[in-house]
Amino acid sequence: MNLNVSIARNALLRASKSQWLASQMTQRAFARRAVKRFMPGESLGDALGAASTLEKGGIGSLVTRLGETLTGESNTDEVRDHYISALGEIQRKGLSTVISIKPTQLGLDTSVAECVRQTSAIAAAAESRGSFIWVDMEDSSYVDRTLDLYEQLKSRFPKTGLAMQAYLYRTPKDVERLMPLKPIIRLVKGAYAEPAAVAFPAKKDTDAQYVAVGETLLNAAREGNALPIFGTHDMNIVHRLVGRAKSLGLTKEQYEVHMLYGIRSAEQRSLASDGVGVRCLISYGSNWFPWYMRRLAERPANVWFVVKSTFS
Ligand SMILES: Cc1cc2nc3c(=O)[nH]c(=O)nc-3n(C[C@H](O)[C@H](O)[C@H](O)COP(=O)(O)OP(=O)(O)OC[C@H]3O[C@@H](n4cnc5c(N)ncnc54)[C@H](O)[C@@H]3O)c2cc1C
Repeated sequence: MNLNVSIARNALLRASKSQWLASQMTQRAFARRAVKRFMPGESLGDALGAASTLEKGGIGSLVTRLGETLTGESNTDEVRDHYISALGEIQRKGLSTVISIKPTQLGLDTSVAECVRQTSAIAAAAESRGSFIWVDMEDSSYVDRTLDLYEQLKSRFPKTGLAMQAYLYRTPKDVERLMPLKPIIRLVKGAYAEPAAVAFPAKKDTDAQYVAVGETLLNAAREGNALPIFGTHDMNIVHRLVGRAKSLGLTKEQYEVHMLYGIRSAEQRSLASDGVGVRCLISYGSNWFPWYMRRLAERPANVWFVVKSTFS
């Protein structure tokens, strides 16, 4: 990453934490127009409408409601109930869409036990419909607690997946720790501003660790001991790992590629038509500011889309 891009990335990630900017931006028409590039709309109905279109084209989906770090019990109850009713809505519409949750929306800041309690209610509702639940990974201060949460959930609800971040030095050890559970892992590069004490500052090191952990997971998948999901738009890495999966003789059910709504859409279609299992993660909700800043930070050139939307 060159110095200018790295400065822009850090500035955008710092801005993502500003409450003031969040309240300003979410009210501005130009920002709401710009965010449409990554999000079909703020309601669950908007997300499921997009999911239905994707599914007709052979691409599955995951949905997630934006918002992070909720603490009050009534708030976390509301999030839990929302996801349980979303599962009902997905079933009514006959979609294969699954849900992805953020542990801090469900009480992780209060305690792991509280988060297990709230998330288990959603996982049980998903299980009763034969569906999955995905757990996102947030910043590095939450990794220990999220692994504890995952271990408890996965042992009770086998169809539970966890995002793990290739930019963290610790991730290969964490993957090893989860192996006895036959984990379902969505490997991502990592979206937060992390210090060099915990994460690779250089993108090339993150990419190398991504490939190494990805190969470990594919080898485990061959023995039926893991289900790897590659959550990245890095087509070099995707082609390399898909090639490796094929050479190991893995079927469509033994690994998948997941991408974000609005990013690399043509490549998503091309992978799906090539027989690879592809899902697209669709976000919705009014609390989109920090998440949107992280998307801009991944590719600071995206800021030009905001500028263009301001004047269109
Ligand atoms: C399904 C899914 C779930 C995720 N869950 C989590 C999670 O739980 N925790 C977490 O920390 N992170 C999560 N992420 C985000 C992830 O960590 C990265 O920040 C994000 O995917 C960008 O990195 P990349 O792997 O695409 O690689 P990069 O090397 O950043 O990008 C590769 C190429 O993809 C394109 N691209 C990437 N991002 C964008 C963008 N925003 N706009 C336009 N083009 C872009 C560019 O052409 C770029 O050159 C998730 C990502 C996906 C796809």
